[in-house]
Amino acid sequence: MAVSRMERELIVRYCLQNAIFYKGKANPGAVIGKVMADQPELRKRVADVKKEVMSVVRIVNRMKLDEQEKRLKKLAPKMMKRLPKKKSRGLPELKGAVNGKVVTRFAPSPTGPLSLPHLLRPVFINYLYARKYKGKFILRLEDTDPVKTLKEAYKWIQEDLKRVGVRPDKVVIKSQHMELYYRKAEELIKRGRAYVCLCSAEKFRGLKLKKEHCPERGRSAEENMKDWKAMLKGKFYEGEAVVRLKTDMSNPNPVLRDPPLLRISYGKHPKVGTRYNVWPLYNFACAIEDHDQGVTHVFRAKEHEHNTAVQKLMYKEFGWKPPFVVNFGMIYLPDSKAHIRDIKRWIADGTVSGWDDPKLPTARALFRRGFQAETFRELAITCGLSKTDIRIGWENLEGINRKVVDPRANRVMAVLDPVEIMVHGAKARTVELKVHPDFPKRGMRKVKAVPHHMYLSRHDWRVLRKHEFRLIGFGNVYLKDYQAEYRGDKIVKGMQKVQWVSRPHVRIKLIMPEETKEGLAEPSISKAKVGDIVQLERTGFARVDKKTKGLVTLVFSHK
Ligand code: GLU
Repeated sequence: MAVSRMERELIVRYCLQNAIFYKGKANPGAVIGKVMADQPELRKRVADVKKEVMSVVRIVNRMKLDEQEKRLKKLAPKMMKRLPKKKSRGLPELKGAVNGKVVTRFAPSPTGPLSLPHLLRPVFINYLYARKYKGKFILRLEDTDPVKTLKEAYKWIQEDLKRVGVRPDKVVIKSQHMELYYRKAEELIKRGRAYVCLCSAEKFRGLKLKKEHCPERGRSAEENMKDWKAMLKGKFYEGEAVVRLKTDMSNPNPVLRDPPLLRISYGKHPKVGTRYNVWPLYNFACAIEDHDQGVTHVFRAKEHEHNTAVQKLMYKEFGWKPPFVVNFGMIYLPDSKAHIRDIKRWIADGTVSGWDDPKLPTARALFRRGFQAETFRELAITCGLSKTDIRIGWENLEGINRKVVDPRANRVMAVLDPVEIMVHGAKARTVELKVHPDFPKRGMRKVKAVPHHMYLSRHDWRVLRKHEFRLIGFGNVYLKDYQAEYRGDKIVKGMQKVQWVSRPHVRIKLIMPEETKEGLAEPSISKAKVGDIVQLERTGFARVDKKTKGLVTLVFSHK
């Protein structure tokens, strides 16, 4: 059985509730969202839940509103009432968090712009906790790999954060702290707690597995200092010398056996050029930075669990109090993990148009498609701190976004790949349609209909030939081929309603992930500004991407 009886009942209840709140029609995406929020463990079985929701929605949407109400009243009378909109459910309280004293940080490597997995967890969890406890949120750019660091990424990351409304209280750039790392390294070498290891990576790997010491490990602090200075002076090749922490080579966890602290790289760094050729490794620099900035809580992905262990060693070594660390699970969305190096290649070979190509899961591509800051924030809160990996579908993200953009998106008639038809027997007139069906205060939009120049989407035109249908707001027509006959204005129950465009109109281009379609829209679209979301009736939501004379370019969001 795909879902249990109890789960099915839960789905039925939310379906009825959603239908009652929305004029008798439940929206599957919204129902899935509610069910998941109620029973988060169901996230692991999205496909089952989705299937069940689809089937229940079909049944419920066939019922009359009073029938739906009667049923919900019987099943769960409390759900009849609309709950006052809570601002946000918020995140769970943190152990040991003191108001005004929490310091968190988001620490991306500036190798490209932010992507969806960044937004869903490390960005929002760290930011929201800092705000919840009126503490401090730091953006730390981890640019200690001179080769992988990308000059533009510093700016991109800050732009992306700004777009989701995340304002760091402080920005730290690691490459500005090289002297601090060097001081700390020297301190450890002088204390005999770190040494310069001259093994090749391969050789050390072998020793590590056999739990044996590197031959240089036993040398005196003076000898190590000499090699350290030689490293700084560029006397070694890359990979020839690394500084390691002296731990216990028999530790059951191999990552804790003499972990590396600093290495040599002669790459040209986008900020500091070739000034440095010894670079700290992530764990060493991270521990020093977290301590230096007084970070109290670290929230990061589970894939860093072994790093957390190494950093603990560093803290112990320096005699510092470690921060409270949560290693949360991953949020998986199908096709949402594209590697920076892949994206770079696609950009270079023209597979995608840039970092904001709507095909990509980068934050900027999603913004361009009309996903809103609130959507990411809401999903991050819903997923919370769970340590298990969470699998969600695009429909979850779209479901949340739909709720966010729907009230904002004015309605516009548009036809894609248009076909011109000529309607006989009707006079030109101006039709009035609501700007937004739920907000009468926004008024009406006037659309001129010139019967001899009516346009339908090619798809509609194809299926509607030899049929009678209603051109929304205008009247009923019978379509022969390119000619149609006007059949009056009477509303006929069950008759298909079709959108149309006439003259004047505005040319549009709709960029969808797989293709770009050309079309026409009613003139009211030119009132939308770049960044606005509109609903192209029956096509879906889209964000205005660009406006040039006579052409509005939109990027498709979702249905
Ligand atoms: N630069 C690391 C990353 O992007 C930071 C991890 C952390 O310590 O939070 O994964």
